[in-house]
Amino acid sequence: MEADAARDILRKYLKSSGKQRSTPERFAILDAVLETQGHFDAESLYYRLISSGTKISRATVYNTLELLKECGLVSKYRFAENISRYEKAFGRPQHHHLICLECGDIIEFVHDRLERIQQEACSERGFAPQSSSLQIFGTCAKCRKKP
Ligand SMILES: [Zn+2]
Ligand SMILES: [Zn+2]
Repeated sequence: MEADAARDILRKYLKSSGKQRSTPERFAILDAVLETQGHFDAESLYYRLISSGTKISRATVYNTLELLKECGLVSKYRFAENISRYEKAFGRPQHHHLICLECGDIIEFVHDRLERIQQEACSERGFAPQSSSLQIFGTCAKCRKKP
């Protein structure tokens, strides 16, 4: 099961890092992340958790998201705004983003040729890639149609 496998990754990561404790709060945050579709920021995740009755501090949400990023369970992006956005990375293929500067829409895409170019660029230089994401800023089709 997805959630069990993700929990396992986090548990092992916390154990190996040696300084972070495995607390129920961290796993509650992981569960909430796994249930979330799309891109979200730390504040909205924090409010969702406390409004569903989870006792948690804002600082725990922020630092747990960092931990989840370090162990590859979430991706962190800075789109056109001043805040970071996260999304579930576990069990999802790597993808790229088109970001509309008018309405804020984020459109995801994957492209075989782009993946191949990235692999070539890395292997030609003996580089072992960990993650990558292309972000293209502009105006979406819907906003372009507006008068
Ligand atoms: Zn738009
Ligand atoms: Zn995405």
